[in-house]
Amino acid sequence: MIRRNVDLSRANTLGLPCRAERFLATDDIATTRDALRQAVERDWPLTVLGGGSNLVLQPWLPGLALKPTFADLRFEEVGEGDVLVHAGAGLNWHALVEALAARDLWGIENLALIPGHVGAAPIQNIGAYGVELADVLEQVHLLHLEDGQETVLDREECAFGYRDSVFKHALENRVVITRLVLRVSPQARPRLDYGDLAARLPARPCASDVVAAVSAVRREKLPDPKVLGNAGSFFKNPVVSSGHAQALLERHPTMPHFPLANGGVKLAAGWLIDQCGLKGLREGHVGTHERQALVLVHHGGGSAAELLALARHVIEEVQARFDVALEQEPRLMGRAAR
Ligand SMILES: Cc1cc2nc3c(=O)[nH]c(=O)nc-3n(C[C@H](O)[C@H](O)[C@H](O)COP(=O)(O)OP(=O)(O)OC[C@H]3O[C@@H](n4cnc5c(N)ncnc54)[C@H](O)[C@@H]3O)c2cc1C
Repeated sequence: MIRRNVDLSRANTLGLPCRAERFLATDDIATTRDALRQAVERDWPLTVLGGGSNLVLQPWLPGLALKPTFADLRFEEVGEGDVLVHAGAGLNWHALVEALAARDLWGIENLALIPGHVGAAPIQNIGAYGVELADVLEQVHLLHLEDGQETVLDREECAFGYRDSVFKHALENRVVITRLVLRVSPQARPRLDYGDLAARLPARPCASDVVAAVSAVRREKLPDPKVLGNAGSFFKNPVVSSGHAQALLERHPTMPHFPLANGGVKLAAGWLIDQCGLKGLREGHVGTHERQALVLVHHGGGSAAELLALARHVIEEVQARFDVALEQEPRLMGRAAR
């Protein structure tokens, strides 16, 4: 049933105050199709919500906020010992990571403890510790807003990039993802060359060991949204030309930098912000995290407007000092007033 004027302040990990004009949580395809039909007929803007961990919600979300809660999970053994995992969009991502590791299936163990739902994972091609969703994704099942038709996209059609996919471009606000199909393997294939992961693990770890190690590192580095409101990394790591990176390295020889295959150089947004002296900054109800400048935090009692003002300040400081443009990662939704 579609509810009206629903409080979403506990449905986003930043804990920002927001009310949805209409809200529907459903794990039923027919109900989802019916809601999409109504949204089109009545001209309601559609917002699809997952766990709310990559959003900046403004106070008023007009139209229909739809939360898919499909929780089906099925394992299909295929050739070469691989396993296809059919996972409903409403499943908790970390619970899925744990479920696969418990069966010693390899593929997404490095993506442990990323908050949110399975259905949101392709939107920004979630990634951590040298692994991206795109490495294991086979298919995305979705419903189209315009006609309720179900389509299955394969990996190539998703146009994955760094924190990017077709769902942020041609298909933005136009589809509801209902299920993912991932290809994982019972063959051990640990990827431990990132940070100090290898040093934390036995010589021949099982997938659950990797999940535990990644989770431990993340708990040390990142604030728990249940304790302190945040949306993880607030800015993408910027990519600059090799000439620009070289010029910066002459002034800052210790600057972290990662040359890319396309000739660009990826920089660490957190390092750039830290160098501007902004780590641990507090302005009113919002700030930057004391251990990770890349994470903007909401201490409670604040608003999207305050957070966005702080984000602008960070962007301006980094631009002025390094001539590098930071891009916001979490999606801005809703509007300031009814
Ligand atoms: C502490 C913390 C750490 C994080 N670490 C990482 C990290 O290491 N790597 C990383 O990549 N991200 C990270 N994130 C960001 C976030 O967890 C991921 O982007 C996650 O996939 C968002 O899932 P969600 O269900 O919360 O999506 P939401 O925030 O609810 O939505 C995000 C986007 O997905 C869309 N969406 C959600 N569900 C669907 C669906 N079923 N169909 C269509 N569209 C949908 C929404 O419309 C929105 O555009 C972190 C966040 C936090 C708070």
